[in-house]
Amino acid sequence: MKLQLNGIQHYVFCPRQWALITIEQVWEENEDTVIGGLVHAIADDKYYEETRKDKLITRAVPISSSKLGVNGIIDVLEYRKSKNGVKLDNREGNWTPYVVEYKKGKPKKDLSDILQLVAQVMCLEEMFNIRIEKSAIYYKQINKRVETIVIDALREKVQLLASEMHHLYENGKTPKATIGKNCKRCSLNELCRPRLTHHKRSVSNYIQSSWEEIQ
Ligand code: SF4
Repeated sequence: MKLQLNGIQHYVFCPRQWALITIEQVWEENEDTVIGGLVHAIADDKYYEETRKDKLITRAVPISSSKLGVNGIIDVLEYRKSKNGVKLDNREGNWTPYVVEYKKGKPKKDLSDILQLVAQVMCLEEMFNIRIEKSAIYYKQINKRVETIVIDALREKVQLLASEMHHLYENGKTPKATIGKNCKRCSLNELCRPRLTHHKRSVSNYIQSSWEEIQ
């Protein structure tokens, strides 16, 4: 069973949000998700391909990884001519893949966007049997590409997250809510009811600790 690669950003944002979407199949649009979808629609024009001097640009490229157990789509995949690159059909020379992921906002304080990008890079590394040193995220709000150097610590983090996600999925487990600052901007806040599920856990913790005290 392969999971959706873009679930990694949801999982980093909140494991419960990811589980509600993936395991319980609920989804609620808010302004952020609608605008995000439009940004991706601009990038995801399947039939668009162009060549500039030493650069080939492809869009909406399907990717997959057995090691991570994920499938996904890359918004924009550039190939840059380089002697350490791979051979491509009907193209002369060698080409190194360079992912460009599109996001509507600006760079985040957490690593969710970067880890999703690294997961995309890891898929390509497996598919092409190559090592990719860097890739980028284009942020619409600041109209800028922000490059990420793909270090091994990021690869290890993505592998760990993918294992956790598979473990939860295979056991059908949705984590309890942990109330945090992300809840305010979570598109699933109404469905999740974090205070309710959080309280449930608190009550059970309370009963458990009371029981331990009297033993
Ligand atoms: S409301 Fe909070 S706990 Fe619930 S899914 Fe969203 S971020 Fe997670």
